[in-house]
Amino acid sequence: MAAEVQEGDVAIVGAGPVGLFAVFELGMLGIKAQLVDALDVVGGQCAALYPEKPIFDIPGLPEVMAADLVEQLKRQAEPFSPVYHLDQRVETLERQADGRWLLETSKGTRLLVRAVIIAGGVGAFGPNRPPIEGLEAFEASGAVRYMVTRREDFRDKRVVIAGGGDSALDWTLSLAELAAKVYVIHRRDKFRGAPESVARLKALAEDGRVVELVTPYQLGGLEGEDGGLDAVIARKLDGEERRLEADFLLPFFGLSMNLGPIAHWGLGLDQHHIKVAPATCATDAPGVYAIGDIATYEGKLKLILCGFSEAAMAAHAVRAFLHPDEELHWEYSTTRGVPGAA
Ligand code: FAD
Repeated sequence: MAAEVQEGDVAIVGAGPVGLFAVFELGMLGIKAQLVDALDVVGGQCAALYPEKPIFDIPGLPEVMAADLVEQLKRQAEPFSPVYHLDQRVETLERQADGRWLLETSKGTRLLVRAVIIAGGVGAFGPNRPPIEGLEAFEASGAVRYMVTRREDFRDKRVVIAGGGDSALDWTLSLAELAAKVYVIHRRDKFRGAPESVARLKALAEDGRVVELVTPYQLGGLEGEDGGLDAVIARKLDGEERRLEADFLLPFFGLSMNLGPIAHWGLGLDQHHIKVAPATCATDAPGVYAIGDIATYEGKLKLILCGFSEAAMAAHAVRAFLHPDEELHWEYSTTRGVPGAA
């Protein structure tokens, strides 16, 4: 039996930093929102990919940990009591005869709303996984991970990092401070990262205490039983192998970006992004807006701060769409305060 339909004003697809801020901006205009996210936590890329990295370009916050930014955004949205539907992907978005939009999720949740804000980031993002036999068991046990959510997990452990880009470099430099050993497997001798990071990596490798470069090698296989990792096999193109005893493997081969179901919702797209009118973030479907990384227009910058601005513009456009005959008596937050906040 299909789940009961939950009615509301606005549904936000994606509870990343930009979707979270949209709750606040809508709330300030008297509009309540429900958020849906495929992940089981809010915060999007900040929460899933780099919670313990400091961000330096949020206005007014010279340095803020990604996880702390998410926490603050969640707090800022709280007075407006958003409803979160987490751990479920929005699969379909269909316009109804009365002009409202019906969203249905992978868990069968059905939302019927008057306007939709898509803040889906890079879509259903996931890591590029190495083609290694038996990988799933090691992923399930946590011995193979594609992101570092808690550095402490690696204290005094032997870690193999695979890859030659910024993530591989950054995490090598970071984990070298607490791990017992960090091997870096890369198929070339050259690394593609910030020159300063490459120089620091080389210095750590020369020092030889913790970091060891394993180049030019590729991931060859994993040894261990029932998901417990014993060793990572590194292999040269000519077949020569090295056995690296390890507790963890962290492959950093980039993200696969896939719009997922959003690509099939009939919206105008431009190279895997949703085309919007820059002044309103309106898509070409009435009542559907897109903000944050997923939205594109001429001059678009994929930055959190730009997403915040888009959230404000979309919220105002949504208000005008929902209440076309009501003039907005707009006030600064300093004048109005936050309705509902203590
Ligand atoms: P996201 O954070 O990607 O969130 C989108 C959410 O939508 C995700 O949680 C996803 O699960 C969900 N979603 C997608 N499709 C669906 C669906 N069909 N159903 C349900 N949910 C769905 N930016 C900066 O401004 N400064 C920085 O210093 C900075 N550093 C970065 C460092 C790293 C390592 C990375 C990877 C990114 C960095 N960024 C930085 C970029 C920044 O994280 C993004 O610009 C920001 O996360 C975009 O926010 P968003 O809310 O638009 O999308």
